[in-house]
Amino acid sequence: MSDPAAINASVNSPLRQYPLERTRNFGICAHIDAGKTTTTERILFYTGLIHKIGDVDDGNTVTDWMEQEKERGITITSAAVTSFWTQKKEAGLHKNFEGIAHRINIIDTPGHVDFTAEVERSMRVLDGAVAVFCGVAGVQPQSETVWRQATKYKVPRIAFVNKMDRTGANFDNALNDMRKKLGAYAFPIYLNIGAEDKFAGVIDVVNQKAIVWGEGDITNEGLKYEITEIPEAHQDRAQAALAELIDAVSNKDDSIAELVLEEKPITVPALKAAIRRLTCKIELIPVLCGTAFKKKGIQVLIDAVVDYLPSPLDIPPATGHVPGTEDSLEVPPNDGAKFCSLAFKLWTDPYAGKLVFFRVYSGQLKKGDSIYNPRTRKRERVSRLMVIQGSERKDVDSVYSGDIAALVGLRNITTGDTLCNEDFDIALEPPTFPEPVISMAIEPKSKADQDKMSQGLQRLAEEDPTFRCFTNEETGQLIIAGMGELHLEIIRDRLKREFSVEADAGAPQIAYRETITKGAEGEGKFIRQSGGRGQYGHAIIDVEPNEKGKGVEILNKVVGGTIPKEYIPAVHAGIEEAIKSGVYAGFQVIDIKVSIKDGSFHEVDSNELAFKMAGIFALKDAFAQASPILLEPIMKVEATTPDEYQGDILGDINRRRGMIQGVDAKNGQTVLTAQVPLAEMFGYATAIRSLSKGRASYSMEPFSFEQVPNSVLTTVMDAAKKRPAARS
Ligand code: GDP
Repeated sequence: MSDPAAINASVNSPLRQYPLERTRNFGICAHIDAGKTTTTERILFYTGLIHKIGDVDDGNTVTDWMEQEKERGITITSAAVTSFWTQKKEAGLHKNFEGIAHRINIIDTPGHVDFTAEVERSMRVLDGAVAVFCGVAGVQPQSETVWRQATKYKVPRIAFVNKMDRTGANFDNALNDMRKKLGAYAFPIYLNIGAEDKFAGVIDVVNQKAIVWGEGDITNEGLKYEITEIPEAHQDRAQAALAELIDAVSNKDDSIAELVLEEKPITVPALKAAIRRLTCKIELIPVLCGTAFKKKGIQVLIDAVVDYLPSPLDIPPATGHVPGTEDSLEVPPNDGAKFCSLAFKLWTDPYAGKLVFFRVYSGQLKKGDSIYNPRTRKRERVSRLMVIQGSERKDVDSVYSGDIAALVGLRNITTGDTLCNEDFDIALEPPTFPEPVISMAIEPKSKADQDKMSQGLQRLAEEDPTFRCFTNEETGQLIIAGMGELHLEIIRDRLKREFSVEADAGAPQIAYRETITKGAEGEGKFIRQSGGRGQYGHAIIDVEPNEKGKGVEILNKVVGGTIPKEYIPAVHAGIEEAIKSGVYAGFQVIDIKVSIKDGSFHEVDSNELAFKMAGIFALKDAFAQASPILLEPIMKVEATTPDEYQGDILGDINRRRGMIQGVDAKNGQTVLTAQVPLAEMFGYATAIRSLSKGRASYSMEPFSFEQVPNSVLTTVMDAAKKRPAARS
């Protein structure tokens, strides 16, 4: 990264338009309402890819305008939008990429924590992020969640303090909040000039210049602005911020530290390059500010994306493994390497139909090529490739490593699938999706809609990996399972709007899980050899606990063909079936590693069914000996209350088997954080209202699965047995 504009010919195909170095895949992460949509829209506006405001007056009819507005809404919430940005030569502000065009792909990230799966899957494919904060509220509890997710996925970030024009906006407070609540090593690269209705522009700390936007008419180029010397009143603050920034950078970057020690001048390019290095390593968070709504600060934000967020070459390569083994592989970006990509979102476009958004990690893909899906072991031909550019859907002929694009018209692909060359047997690490915590029985209001409802649910489950639907074999009821009551409510609403099926739902039930606490061996035999054609299946397996959240892994370690190769998938399927229906109390098994290691077969009597049964029996046998336990979903609960009710609310959380994690009192309000079993949270909305005379509020999100304590185990098991609908 010594010369960020240099092009690395060895990894770039000569045919591609934008080299990898000049590609930025980033997301805009924010708590709902902080201004993510507005910021995205403004970026598309300034990059010239959406309808220009000036055009409205150019004789377009109102209907056109509304259509475009609608269109814009659709585009912005689409999985990924491609845009282009060239840094302008402006009073010498740009030294890194001046005059060089970059391709920027904005990947949608949802703001609502109920949709963790959406956040997880977008984090997995972006290389960097802009975290948007509200200049008035600073770091809100839910912005912490989004931040934590970005940290978990090791996503380099810059922070944008938005809404500087609103009453109560305070840049320094927001910055301090970031440092205190998020522990961020955050330093302003742009300071605010004024705030609230006096917010006029920003100070470019690195270049020591002021950028001031006019209040006048918005043209196609956006608001007019001027680059000037820093106004007298802001000079001390600007110099102090630069000194603080250099100090912060020199603490972590040797080249700047050396210059400081030797008392040599620190040039703008050297400082910018160091900020870029540290940002890409997530050792520093550059902070900017502006107002998306009033269109101020957006150009500098895009400049900062280009200057400081990583290209696909600046981050560690994606990793995967050879399916069915533990051998890991790295997939560095390189157009000349074998094709490998990850399908990260299925999306139904009102015009183009079913789209599969995918991120290319290595190689290239052309229209007419075939792609291979290691999960289904199937090949499919790519007949159409598309990118979304502004409000346009644009067909393209080929895509290269680092690109984000959509496949049109392909079936049998689900979120998290690897799509690659057939001779490249690899499964990229899929995004990890949390397990559903709640389930309910569902039936159509009209019996005639049964099929339509099943189809609708199936399609919704394909799009959303945290939503599941299945039939309870004992009761024949259709069960839906998801991340919370709101999640399932939205599913029912979508059934109604998109599939015209109205459905009744039963009471929500807890989705318990099973797992094991030690390793064990298990044997399964399915042998019938009296009369007629016999059956012979025999498998020996090992089970061991898998790391929390890692899910189920089934490995084939059979050597010497003791189970013939063609029967391994059947054993696998049997194990999977037993895992799904549970062993201990009839709940799905999670976080377990199974190795198929031995068995035997019969020349005549062996068949797939017999080996599948052997798989089921082996898993049950091993599981019973591996000290199984029951797990329950634990929620992270955040309650905000006036101080006077704090004691009562704490007491209530304790009675609900809750564990208090934090009590943070500020300005008469206390924010309580706790981990509480979901089983104890039914009716909490009413309880907290009556405890606080309606003045406290709370939010909760799935946090983890923990062992059901012995004190309540019998009650839970008894209840579970009586409520087969709860099984998921
Ligand atoms: P999202 O939920 O994060 O996508 O946020 P939106 O972009 O929809 O913005 C939420 C609300 O805040 C909307 O009413 C916006 O008009 C408003 N908003 C967004 N940015 C700004 C800003 O810079 N200043 C002000 N005053 N309002 C803003």
